[in-house]
This record gives sequence, structure tokens and C-alpha cells, in this order.
Amino acid sequence: MIDSRFFAYKKTLEENDIQIRYAELPPTFHGLVVREDVSAYSIYINPALNHESQIDTAIHELEHIKKKDFDKMIDINTLELLTHK
Ligand SMILES: [Zn+2]
Repeated sequence: MIDSRFFAYKKTLEENDIQIRYAELPPTFHGLVVREDVSAYSIYINPALNHESQIDTAIHELEHIKKKDFDKMIDINTLELLTHK
């Protein structure tokens, strides 16, 4: 799923160990990030999405990693609400 838009995340990708995987998720979940380690993350994408939406979702999740949202002392569900309101 390489896309030119990933170049904006080159630094984030280089500085972290980021795996992009598929996971059977409920239809309302496009994707999610699991932090495996200090600088290792797994991005899970719903395979039911079309290709374009999969890219959008991967970039959305990369944006969370880039903004170091996982370092913030805030519950991730609360963070999602704040980010997407
Ligand atoms: Zn989000």
C-alpha cells in the first residue's frame, strides 16, 4: 500500500518500527494503533475498506504516532474524541 503521501511520514517511519497489518475489525473501526514498545507500533487496518480508505486510515494512524499522541497522559479513547470532534 505504498503511496506518495507516505513521504510526509518518512521521518516517523524511519525513527520507529512500524508494522502495517490487517485485522478483522467492526465496520465502524477503520483502523487502530497498538504501541508495542517505546518506538515500535503496529497499525491495524480493516481489510473491508477500499484501497484509498486503507491509505487514508494508515496515514491517520501515522499522524497519531507522528504527533506522539501515545506519550500524552490521556486515555486513548478520550484522545480519539478530542481529535475527531
Ligand atoms: Zn484517530
